[in-house]
Amino acid sequence: MDIEPEVLALIQHAKRVTILTGAGVSAESGVATFRAYKEETQESLWSQYDPQKMASIDGFRENPNRVWQWYQWRRNELKNKEPNDAHKAIAKWQQSKTQNVTLITQNVDGLHQAGGSKDVIELHGNIWRNHCLQCLADYNGDVDGVETVIECPECGGQIRPSVVWFSEALPEQAWRDAESASYSCDLFLSVGTSSQVYPAAGLAALAKSQGATVIEVNPEPTESSVVDYCIEGKAGEVFKTLNI
Ligand SMILES: [Zn+2]
Repeated sequence: MDIEPEVLALIQHAKRVTILTGAGVSAESGVATFRAYKEETQESLWSQYDPQKMASIDGFRENPNRVWQWYQWRRNELKNKEPNDAHKAIAKWQQSKTQNVTLITQNVDGLHQAGGSKDVIELHGNIWRNHCLQCLADYNGDVDGVETVIECPECGGQIRPSVVWFSEALPEQAWRDAESASYSCDLFLSVGTSSQVYPAAGLAALAKSQGATVIEVNPEPTESSVVDYCIEGKAGEVFKTLNI
């Protein structure tokens, strides 16, 4: 894979880099994306259910155990997924002494952490964590193999996975951190996510408004006026070529 020298220089010389990753990065580790869900889960007993419904408060209220079991199944599926070259390269890059690298992700699978990243701004939460729907307290008990919704030890409410469901607001602190990282960077790298869709589009636009260069890494580049350069390719391959 060839990357234009001009683009390479921009990446190597930026002082403050903010990276936003999305479903494409996880997909390269074999994690089913919502878009491809139906096809990829055809073999499972869950293929008949609409993932949008499962990942919603309405779906949970309608049948909490079913939604909980769906998440337990997804966690099980994730257990044998490994971080790929992109996850590892980003983790290594974050340790750079000369560049300040902040990582924001829309992924909930924890693969960045598994790949060695310590500080990750999680815009959509993390599937491995749980909290109470009612009092919002974190639930840190072991849920492995638990197939019915757990009662909150604090208030008796229902324990749910700590992921952002459709139509829910993003976690405030994570969003503030993401905004501030985008506001103050000189390079914004959007990886495996469309730069057209919220919230990626908003953060990329914010970075650009402050003079940052916006680069998208995507096998299928999106048409966006915010993007200055696009590196067409899979994230794992691109990061291998970048060799940062
Ligand atoms: Zn509670």
